Amino acid sequence: MKKVKVKSLAEKYKVTAQKIVAILKEEGIDVKTASSVVPEADIELVEMHLDELFGSKKEQKKSEKKECQTVSIKPPVAVRALADVMDKKPNEVIAELMKEGIFASINQTIENEVAEKVAKKFNFELKIEKRDKETHAANSNANNTDVVAKFVDREEDHIQRPPVVTFLGHVDHGKTSLQDKVRETSVVKGEAGGITQHIGASTIDYNNHKITFIDTPGHEAFTQMRARGAHVTDIAILVVAANDGFMPQTIEAMNHALAAEVPVIVAINKMDLPEADPDKVLLHMQQNNLMSEDWGGDVGTVRVSAHTGQGLDELLDRILLESEMLELNANPKRPGVATVLEAQLEQGLGATSNILVQDGTIKEGDVVICGEYFGRVKSMLDENGNKVFEAGPSTPVKLVGLSGVPEAGTEMHVARNEKVARQAAEKAASEKRQEALRGSSVTSADDLFSKINQSKQASLKIIIKSDVRGSGEAIIDSLNKLPSEKIKVDVVSASVGSISENDVMLAAASDAIIVGFHVRVNNGVNALAKREGVDIRLYSIIYELLEDITDALTGKLEPVKRENNIGKAKILKIFSVSKGPKVCGCMVEEGSVRVGAMAKVYRDGGMIFNGEITSLRRFQDDVKEVKSGLECGIRLDNFMDFDENDVIEVYEIELKKATL
Ligand code: GDP
Repeated sequence: MKKVKVKSLAEKYKVTAQKIVAILKEEGIDVKTASSVVPEADIELVEMHLDELFGSKKEQKKSEKKECQTVSIKPPVAVRALADVMDKKPNEVIAELMKEGIFASINQTIENEVAEKVAKKFNFELKIEKRDKETHAANSNANNTDVVAKFVDREEDHIQRPPVVTFLGHVDHGKTSLQDKVRETSVVKGEAGGITQHIGASTIDYNNHKITFIDTPGHEAFTQMRARGAHVTDIAILVVAANDGFMPQTIEAMNHALAAEVPVIVAINKMDLPEADPDKVLLHMQQNNLMSEDWGGDVGTVRVSAHTGQGLDELLDRILLESEMLELNANPKRPGVATVLEAQLEQGLGATSNILVQDGTIKEGDVVICGEYFGRVKSMLDENGNKVFEAGPSTPVKLVGLSGVPEAGTEMHVARNEKVARQAAEKAASEKRQEALRGSSVTSADDLFSKINQSKQASLKIIIKSDVRGSGEAIIDSLNKLPSEKIKVDVVSASVGSISENDVMLAAASDAIIVGFHVRVNNGVNALAKREGVDIRLYSIIYELLEDITDALTGKLEPVKRENNIGKAKILKIFSVSKGPKVCGCMVEEGSVRVGAMAKVYRDGGMIFNGEITSLRRFQDDVKEVKSGLECGIRLDNFMDFDENDVIEVYEIELKKATL
């Protein structure tokens, strides 16, 4: 056990004990004198705080001597991963980030430049590995050149492809409404008859130009794709409500878009409201280094209303202008390359994948390979439910024919033939299994599937079943963001479909709970779960699920022990009594001394005993409590070795239900 006194902190930081006492008091930590002991639970925080105030002398000395070390990490860089590669505590990294004005949680990712800067402070040279698509074995089979169909890439075959656009911004600022309004006014007219399909993205036709919009607004999906090494968005529309201005998620979304080096257009929405104040938005943009072209910068800014349709044409014009500057080229004559936006099992169809073709063309009948799955394209549907026979660059389609449900962000390629596709899929599957067995410390969504079981850390094991792959991933992502370093959520498996006997058996075997999102429980499975003592929880709202999990985690945490100092006494005289342990005559100097409380006996600054106060006497009477300024006799549990001038610090243990 680490016992730290005010005195030793004062020595460490070369300041007076009074100063330390004053600082700790401000932090709500009750210490009184140089010999007071800092409650164990607070030590880490206290040291962090003092390091910040006075600089860590120890750290400085160490780093002066040490040569700058080089460590490498894969992007995106999460706080925990950064701390891990430097062998530092996440708290230390968080504290450094705070100094930079960045408030990041342990699982949050930070920008590369920030990570490098923070690493420097710890005397590390950070090498951020290139995360090109090929590094993600399970997500791309492109590096296997024998698999992908051969082609000649002629310059003259290249054409301009439509831009792919994502709406980002704070909740309720109107991302969905804007997207709906845009679609409503300019949907590509398909042949009649189809039922509108959710295919992950949709294409509109505007003045004879196509624009593809990703269906899931918000930066979570956007960031998740990036985490997989997939880049599907060409242009981000940052939606800001004219009455609210920038809100926390606006800034978050802006940072994600900028980190991805995706050009941003700001749509100032809700201009129809009487309280609309677009200047406020321009000001907030300036304050966040996003200079609007209205104020001499170069960020496109368009005033719109999803309700009245005001400014929508201007927004679309701006998208086309931006896209022209990006020179988005593709070769429709080459074999298709696509990215999976989401994938699911559908009744009557089996595995379906909503994909966005990024280059080339995928045709009905093509053999495709997609991570650990492959298959012949049976059919493709557009968002109007119409069958399409081929899908070119920037076209989203629902594809039927793959042998399983791939993860969002996985690349799909047209393969040379079925045999090589099968082999490549098998290879990818076995690599993935091995990766899962090895485990990995990088915090991408993939790695959460790998078994985490760090010692000293309690873990709540969870099996997730969801209706679509995307929502399962969103749940994992959110669980990962729960503010807890004390306990880990361990996702044993995450898959698509209803809850089956298999899931229950897996849960029973791994001591996990099953969480179902928008799925049902198969017949008879509830009874089995009951027999096996497996907890099944069903949800339709992610927020409720997270709240319950937080409760479950809190219930699982060991209560926190906290020592509260209640008094201090000095030994004046030792009395020998004929029977039993010695009694010491004391003066209570601070607070009070109570029977049943704990006492630490200090001699010359060092602790020599820690135990319970078994009895207290005032004159000849046994008493329960003696207050400061009074003399008393104290008897401690089985302790004889008192000496005059020893100091007794009295404390009580408070058990607090741990919170995350
Ligand atoms: P999201 O969370 O960003 O997708 O926001 P929504 O599109 O769901 O919109 C949130 C709320 O703002 C809804 O009640 C919309 O009706 C409303 N809203 C969206 N756009 C406008 C607008 O241009 N004007 C007004 N007055 N309300 C809007």
